[in-house]
Amino acid sequence: MNAPVKAPPRHAPMDQFEVRDGVLQIGGQPLTRLADRVGRTPFYACDRALLTRRVEELRAALPAKLELHFAMKANPMPALVAHMARLVDGIDVASGGELQVALDAGADPREISFAGPGKSALELRQALAAGILINVESFREIALLRELCRETGYAARVAVRVNPDFELKSSGMKMGGGPKQFGVDAEQVPELLARIGEAAADGVGFEGFHLFAGSQNLKPEAIVEAQLKSFELALRLAQDAPAPVKVLNLGGGFGIPYFPGEQRLDLGPIAANLAALVERAAVELPQAKLVVELGRYLVGEAGVYVCRVVDRKVSRGQVYLVTDGGLHHHLAASGNFGQVIRKNYPVAIGNRMDGAVEDGVSVVGPLCTPLDLLGERMPLSRAEPGDLVVVFQSGAYGVTASPQNFLSHPAAAEVLV
Ligand SMILES: *Cc1c(COP(=O)(O)O)cnc(C)c1O
Repeated sequence: MNAPVKAPPRHAPMDQFEVRDGVLQIGGQPLTRLADRVGRTPFYACDRALLTRRVEELRAALPAKLELHFAMKANPMPALVAHMARLVDGIDVASGGELQVALDAGADPREISFAGPGKSALELRQALAAGILINVESFREIALLRELCRETGYAARVAVRVNPDFELKSSGMKMGGGPKQFGVDAEQVPELLARIGEAAADGVGFEGFHLFAGSQNLKPEAIVEAQLKSFELALRLAQDAPAPVKVLNLGGGFGIPYFPGEQRLDLGPIAANLAALVERAAVELPQAKLVVELGRYLVGEAGVYVCRVVDRKVSRGQVYLVTDGGLHHHLAASGNFGQVIRKNYPVAIGNRMDGAVEDGVSVVGPLCTPLDLLGERMPLSRAEPGDLVVVFQSGAYGVTASPQNFLSHPAAAEVLV
């Protein structure tokens, strides 16, 4: 007897976008028309209505008192940041350049926080002048802030970014636990808090803690565990704090499905745990507001990358769609942004969504490297030169996380529709 053939794992359905007459709709427009409107390919397009819907759905699921921040390095396009700034409670920036964009976007400086190792004296000065919250990541940053406060007379609002003594299990990228360049090791935090207390006379004010254990997690139980442990660690550390905790940023790490077999995150257990933590905070850290900061989860599913088929080649029986886009615009889809084993993002022929499917099609770019692969041996509607290839799940870590200058092709356009 033959063993039953197991169906290959599939991508989660990309049903956030409508299809009409075989054409994908982005921001209420047919993709073909949008491509004409943009005027060139390749481009990234993000759907405003989907951004808004994602925030609304999260708000409905999470406790009302929990604050929702957007970590803008996931997508720092100015128009998108401006849209998000109106929807969320705060913006997390990771450089002086991002701070500038967040302020231009109209974000309230009191609700901007700045994390990242190796902040320069110039960035810290910008942050002080803007009046934002600085998540300090080293003893050097506190010493420098103290000097800058003395020199400028500005007050410093600081939270301590803690490198926790645990890791976010099953996360795509670990950002805390063990030895890390991020934050201050939990065991060194009491000493740092003492320094912050000493710097109070110079205008350095302690406001709370920031923990971020990791990114791209699709396991609710792992996120629950990390948030619970983060809360408890913050409670312990708060005993040595020079002032009451006003803000406790529990990080995020909520993932989205990219690869075959992955499913959308179940928010239920995460929401229940956060509701319990908000209640505990009311008693155990009565002055604190709880924050989660999300990048990818807020914007990733609302965006697509679009490129045009330039050539259709058959090499020893295998079909290659050669496009005008590639890894120089979308490193993550090519599998070269932190993946160990290359897997396919969800890809479709956006103007032939109902077309007859052929199997084993590879989508490549124009670069002279076999790494320039947007899809490998996938089932796709039969496509010809001129057709539009769409890479879904591309609203986060797209153009700004890709080596655009590699091989000197034109940059990708970016639109918000
Ligand atoms: C990158 C980053 C985020 C956002 O991570 P996502 O996985 O995109 O949600 C949040 N907080 C900090 C400190 C970060 O560095």
